[in-house]
Amino acid sequence: MHNGLLVKYGEIAIKGNNRHQFENLLIRNIKEKLAKVGTYKVSKEQGRIFIEPENGSSIDDIIAPLQKVFGIIGLCPASVFTDDSMESICEQTIAHLKEDYGENPAPVTFKVEARRANKKYPLNSLQIAAEVGSKILEAFPNWSVDVHHPQVTVWTELRNRVYVFSKVIPGLGGMPVSSHNKAALLLSGGIDSPVAGWMIAKRGVELCAIYFHAHPYTTDRAKDKVVELARRVSEYSGRINLYVVPFTDIQLDIYDRCPQDQLTIIMRRIMMRISEKIAEKEGAMALITGENLGQVASQTLQSMYCTNEVCTMPVYRPLIGFDKQEIVEIAQKIDTFETSILPYEDCCTIFVAKHPETKPKLESIKKSETHLTDIEAAIEKAVNDSEIIKLRLGEVLE
Ligand code: ATP
Ligand code: MG
Repeated sequence: MHNGLLVKYGEIAIKGNNRHQFENLLIRNIKEKLAKVGTYKVSKEQGRIFIEPENGSSIDDIIAPLQKVFGIIGLCPASVFTDDSMESICEQTIAHLKEDYGENPAPVTFKVEARRANKKYPLNSLQIAAEVGSKILEAFPNWSVDVHHPQVTVWTELRNRVYVFSKVIPGLGGMPVSSHNKAALLLSGGIDSPVAGWMIAKRGVELCAIYFHAHPYTTDRAKDKVVELARRVSEYSGRINLYVVPFTDIQLDIYDRCPQDQLTIIMRRIMMRISEKIAEKEGAMALITGENLGQVASQTLQSMYCTNEVCTMPVYRPLIGFDKQEIVEIAQKIDTFETSILPYEDCCTIFVAKHPETKPKLESIKKSETHLTDIEAAIEKAVNDSEIIKLRLGEVLE
């Protein structure tokens, strides 16, 4: 009977003390995820993470949530038992396979992969595999053995208990998210930035997010959309503090005092400056944007050169070399796409110039910026007046 779930993680890439940290983080993140679903025991046994349901909780309920936990490469529903006699192992294996593939399964090729931690066990691994294999052939006469390219692999592992499993449900891979690594995501309502944040989170980085809101030019619905996107990303990345930055006064000032064709680039430079301050407050060590080379006027090499120049913190643009279609595919996979394409305007689209400069000159931009009204104070005020919305694993807390 499927009474446990074996968690496979990227074992090869992590060694020594890192492995320890990796496992402990992953276990913590798994526990946090499962706490909302039911009661589960999560334990580390001889280099494996194993999950057992308690108090009537079910394995089926946790597959989908665990498919949103970074660091897991596969989930194997397993039968676990203590009686390690060959009779019991064979009986449990057949029962397990019937649960996985049905009472009268379709013909497949298979092999048995046996391991034993207990070297005193009377049979060696090959003998165990042969014995289990022949019982499978008896139970499913239309199955056949193929040790090189089997369609089904049946694992029989004798450790402190016996583990039998055969299906591997894919996980996301990546690294477990750690609060010791944090980056600040500039999150607009578009398709790209949620994907950019997700990609960095996949490498084990916790996120905070920053949204520039130009109320009333951008509506509450535009803001709600961004909150929803952050909520969806937080299902993977854990906790997100979302800063909603009041941006109207600054945008109007830019609009009034700077040349039309430089509006976008100056706005983006100020966004970066505000973001850097918020990132520092949050203890983040990098900024992340959804920028993508050549998509729009503000995303040429020259424009990004000018935008980047205002901050010293590293700016990561994980989508820089992607085609739009590739980004859309990830957005669909991580379930942000439908929200991103809701029609509400964001501040960039409202104040955008008709013919933005595609090859801005830094000196000319800096000169235009001197016309702004006390921009240092305006930046400080925007940071301090930001509203903070807290998200935790897919829930909006406040
Ligand atoms: P997206 O799909 O993420 O909106 P985009 O292709 O529309 O990206 P731009 O609108 O030029 O591109 O924005 C580039 C990046 O700047 C965004 O990916 C995002 O990281 C950041 N950004 C733009 N507008 C905002 C905003 N209102 N609040 C926060 N970040 C923003
Ligand atoms: Mg956008």
